[in-house]
Amino acid sequence: MIKLDQIALPIKYTEKDIENAVIKTLKIKKENLQNFEILKLSIDARKKPNVKYVASVGVTLKNNLENKFQKFKYEKFSKKLEYKKINNNKKIVVVGFGPSGMFASLTLARMGFKVIVVEQGKPVDEREKDVLNFWQNRKLNKYSNVQFGEGGAGTFSDGKLNTNLNNDYCKMVTNEFYNFGAPKEITYLNKPHIGSDNLKNIVKNIRNHIISLGGEFLFSTKLKDIKIKSNQLDGIILQNVETAEIKELSTEQLVLCVGHSARETFEMLYNKGVEIKQKPFAMGVRIEQKQSEINLSQYGVESVDGLPNADYKLVAHLPNGRSVFSFCMCPGGEVVASSSNEGEIVTNGMSNFSRDKENANSAVLVNITPEDYNSDNPLAGIYYQAKYEKLAYELGGKNFNAPAESVGSFLKNKDIKTNINFTYKPNLTFCKIEKCLPEIVAESLKLGLPELNKKLKNFAKDENLLVAIESRSSCPLTIVRDENFESNIKGIYPVGEGAGYAGGIMSSAQDGIKVAEAIYKKEIN
Ligand SMILES: Cc1cc2nc3c(=O)[nH]c(=O)nc-3n(C[C@H](O)[C@H](O)[C@H](O)COP(=O)(O)OP(=O)(O)OC[C@H]3O[C@@H](n4cnc5c(N)ncnc54)[C@H](O)[C@@H]3O)c2cc1C
Repeated sequence: MIKLDQIALPIKYTEKDIENAVIKTLKIKKENLQNFEILKLSIDARKKPNVKYVASVGVTLKNNLENKFQKFKYEKFSKKLEYKKINNNKKIVVVGFGPSGMFASLTLARMGFKVIVVEQGKPVDEREKDVLNFWQNRKLNKYSNVQFGEGGAGTFSDGKLNTNLNNDYCKMVTNEFYNFGAPKEITYLNKPHIGSDNLKNIVKNIRNHIISLGGEFLFSTKLKDIKIKSNQLDGIILQNVETAEIKELSTEQLVLCVGHSARETFEMLYNKGVEIKQKPFAMGVRIEQKQSEINLSQYGVESVDGLPNADYKLVAHLPNGRSVFSFCMCPGGEVVASSSNEGEIVTNGMSNFSRDKENANSAVLVNITPEDYNSDNPLAGIYYQAKYEKLAYELGGKNFNAPAESVGSFLKNKDIKTNINFTYKPNLTFCKIEKCLPEIVAESLKLGLPELNKKLKNFAKDENLLVAIESRSSCPLTIVRDENFESNIKGIYPVGEGAGYAGGIMSSAQDGIKVAEAIYKKEIN
């Protein structure tokens, strides 16, 4: 195959457009063309409003003509999550079925391990009912919600696969998501996203595949405790969160993929002597804007048929030493209530694959350091989060309404109304949101929002909306592990975002694969 880069394509490009561009670039006859496919596609809005796509195209030619284009030669990526099976059917427990637990389980099952997946939440279809019941009727199920359940925190999300990583694992994870049902576009879009609507089915397909490889799933089952003998894991205690029934499982290997919101589990591990240390994270609010105004700033037009709604990524470094940055931007999406505990407000964002809703939203975060926790307790970060989530709950009216305010009212302390048709459910309570924010966060947002607005017009217009509180951007602690991915208690493998080694779907999935490979290496050596 040969690869052609920088191929310009119109927004509503056709196969014919690609074919013509290939023939023109290679100066060949059409009959010499065997096949072509898009390998990479990104939006070029440098000359707005004349927005276009720029593509890398893979081409195969007839009659070995490719030999004439040696400098374009290209080896298509083909590595897969395939391993020589170990035949001992060894039992291994994976706790948590978010992206890290999903890919750890999938990889271990393909390696020949007998995987037992323990997930405190429900299978995704039942989970969705609980999430809608919370959004519509304010009834929170503490084990089945936006954070917890089959698929983990990322299921009710935009499913962005953005990452700063660029390695073979990224490609393998993307291809696996595609194999399990994600749209083809994720394999070549510069900024791929799966969409919440697709994620639910993909998660089920991965579950069924693991079962077909001999895996077993225990839903609504929580890791309640661990048993240790001379610094080695010896067994685990599980509890069914619906019946409260207790079950003991003897195992020497536990892959811990519990996510950033598993506070009770962190406390249990810490009390059992698992080494944990504080870690920085970020906290702030979610901002909601009119998508058409963001498009206008990014593309020079409010909308163009075929052009996806625009995204943005902004950061400002402040004189007070903090940074304010946009995070987890959801074009054409919604602000979602993401609490996992009674009495606490947590916001986040989601979009379906089409990203076609009226508003854009993103988190606007300020970096928080362990010094801000004012405590040496390794768990101080989760208590810091909980403190402000509780304040937000009280400020909202103690009914899961989220505190909200227009940008203008927040920055200028004037009675400026928002013109945003807000999406957060169950509802908002308009008030002074700084009452539920750490002082340093409120101060930094006041300094940073105008700076970000200079970088992107319409980002922080007075009428735009701020919804509090965005407190679970990543995990404020690390469960310490060694080069073999093992904790100080042998047999326990801390993985993913909850262990402090990942942030987001892609890096969490990768961490799951890497830990499975470390366990496999130990097994075969
Ligand atoms: C609304 C929302 C939108 C997001 N959007 C994106 C996005 O677009 N792109 C992106 O990259 N990231 C996004 N994220 C972040 C992403 O979801 C997380 O980074 C990722 O899910 C972390 O994966 P994980 O497997 O480490 O943990 P999680 O996905 O958090 O999964 C942990 C699982 O462990 C289970 N668990 C916890 N404790 C126990 C226990 N004791 N016993 C049994 N089970 C337990 C939980 O129920 C949960 O299902 C979003 C997050 C949210 C909440």
